Amino acid sequence: MSAAPLTLAILPGDGIGMEITQPCVELVQAALAKVGEPAANENWLEAGAGAYTKLGNALPHETIAGCRAADAILLAAMGDPEVRYPDGTEIIPQIDLRFELELYAGVRPVRSVPGIKGPLADPRGDQLDFVLVRESTEGLFASVGKGTRTQEEATDTQVVTRKGTARVCEFAFRLAEQRKARGHVGEVTSVDKANVFKSMAFWRDVFDDVAKSHREITPRYGYVDAVAMEMVRRPWIYDVMVTENMYGDILSDLAAGLIGGLGMAPSADIGDEHAVFQPCHGSAPDIAGTGKANPTAMFLSGAMMLEWLAGEKDNPALARAARLLSAAVDDAFADGTLVSTERGGEAGVVAITNAVSGALDQIALEDPRVK
Ligand code: ATP
Repeated sequence: MSAAPLTLAILPGDGIGMEITQPCVELVQAALAKVGEPAANENWLEAGAGAYTKLGNALPHETIAGCRAADAILLAAMGDPEVRYPDGTEIIPQIDLRFELELYAGVRPVRSVPGIKGPLADPRGDQLDFVLVRESTEGLFASVGKGTRTQEEATDTQVVTRKGTARVCEFAFRLAEQRKARGHVGEVTSVDKANVFKSMAFWRDVFDDVAKSHREITPRYGYVDAVAMEMVRRPWIYDVMVTENMYGDILSDLAAGLIGGLGMAPSADIGDEHAVFQPCHGSAPDIAGTGKANPTAMFLSGAMMLEWLAGEKDNPALARAARLLSAAVDDAFADGTLVSTERGGEAGVVAITNAVSGALDQIALEDPRVK
C-alpha cells in the first residue's frame, strides 16, 4: 500500500525559473506514479524579484508559512538585476530562506552524467562523483545586510560559530559514512584557510572534534586556494568536502564547470526540519524567455528531493522514484546527441524535457539502477 500524498512547496521564482519548474514538477509526478506512489499535492508559492515588484515583499509570509508546512521545498531560481532594494542590493530571498529555516548544509553533488564530456583531458574527469557541502547560514554571508561602508572603507565580517560549524561537519561525516556503505572511499576534506584566519583555524579545530566521533572516516585538509587548483588538476581525489559559506559558493560554481556547466548542477539546502532543493544556477536573465535554458540541474534537484524524502518518510518507493528520474537524465544524454545550448548545441527546455520524459517512460522498474 502506498503512503499518504506528499505536499510540495513549489517556488518557481524569476527568469528561467518560470520555464524549468513546470517540467520538473511533471517529471517528479511521473516518477512517483511509475513507482506506485500517489500524486504529490502542489503548493505553488510566490517569491523573488517578481513578487517584490508585485507585492512589495520578495518573501511573503504566506510563502514562508507554505514552505514550513510542506514536506519539501522545490525552488527554481530567484533574482533580477533590474529589480533591487532601495540600497542597491539584489533581491535574494533564497538566501533569506536558508537563514529563516536554518538550512545549514548546502549539498552540491558533483557527478558526471555519462555522455557529457567534462572539460578535462584526463578521462577520469568524465567520471566524477564527489559532494561539496557548503555551510549555508553563517561565514561571510552572516554579513549580508550588515556590512558597513563609509567614503573610505567598507567591511563585511565573517562569523564562524561552534554550533554552525559542528552541525555542518557532522552532516558531512554522516554523508561520507552513507557513501562509504555504497563503496566510496570514506573521506571528508575540510576546505578552509586555517593558516591565515582565526575564524578558519577555529573551524578546523571544530572539524577535528567532530572527526573524533567518526573513526571510520578519514579526515583530510586543504587550503581553499590549493583545493581550487586540485579541483581542476585532479578532482577525482575528493569524496566529501565541507567548507565555509563563501568558499562553498565559489567552489560549487567551479564544480559545476567540471560536469558540463551550471545547467547540470543540482543542489539541496538541508536543515534539521526543512529542506530546499534548487539548481546551483541563478535566474539567468540573459536567456530568460528564449527557451534556451538547460533544465537538467532542476530535474536532478527534483531527484535529490525524492531521495531526501525517502529518508524522512522512511519510504523506499521514493528512493526508487529518485533513482528513476536520475537514470532518465543519464539515458537522455547517454548517446551524446542531446547537447544543451550552454554547451554549444541546440537543445533547450523543450527538447531536454522531452528526452528525459521519454527515457523515464522507457526505463523498466526492474532496471538495476532503479531497483
Ligand atoms: P546567482 O548569483 O543568482 O547564482 P548568477 O548571476 O551567478 O546567479 P546565473 O543566473 O546562474 O548567474 O547565470 C550565469 C550564466 O550561466 C548566465 O550566462 C546564464 O545564462 C548561464 N546559465 C545559468 N543557468 C543556466 C541554465 N540552466 N541553462 C543554460 N545557461 C544557464
